[in-house]
Amino acid sequence: TGLQELLLSRIRDVADYPEPGVMFKDITPLLADPEAFTALTDALAGIAKDTGATKVVGLEARGFILGAPVAVRAGLGFIPVRKAGKLPGATLSQAYDLEYGSAEIEIHAEDLAAGDRVLVVDDVLATGGTAEASLQLIRRAGAAVAGVAVLMELGFLPGRARLEPALDGAPLQAL
Ligand code: IMP
Repeated sequence: TGLQELLLSRIRDVADYPEPGVMFKDITPLLADPEAFTALTDALAGIAKDTGATKVVGLEARGFILGAPVAVRAGLGFIPVRKAGKLPGATLSQAYDLEYGSAEIEIHAEDLAAGDRVLVVDDVLATGGTAEASLQLIRRAGAAVAGVAVLMELGFLPGRARLEPALDGAPLQAL
């Protein structure tokens, strides 16, 4: 579609970043282009409305850049999921495995209520580990998962398959 072509044309491939052998998808050209950034925001806000979301969760750090305008455009609140140690209040923490080692993310549980339906927004779904851990945090906070919406899914990695059980029927949409 025209939207996909516009978005793809504004994503830059950076070889050997952050380490040799990795082709990094850099979204900063897209962010710098108001037409593309607005089109992306509108498309993600449409997903928020279609899924009946009541809150948007953004994953540090590029999920903040995309998720915040999506929340505003959709008329919803925004909640950051941050790397461990960054949130000042009472947090829930979730550890998850990386290719080498592990990571931990956190949420302010009190910002979610039992009736909330949460859309998780991020730029890139790679192995799915970060998104999977965020869904666990949302459920542990007592809220429901409306879905996961990303700009891009790396189809050569099994992220979608890894995420499927945690989605529990909720949609994963990659633009
Ligand atoms: P995952 O947990 O392996 O799915 O990795 C997803 C997280 O790493 C997301 O928060 C992404 O922002 C980031 N990430 C992984 N690969 C890329 C990439 O090629 N470009 C931008 N972000 C990436």
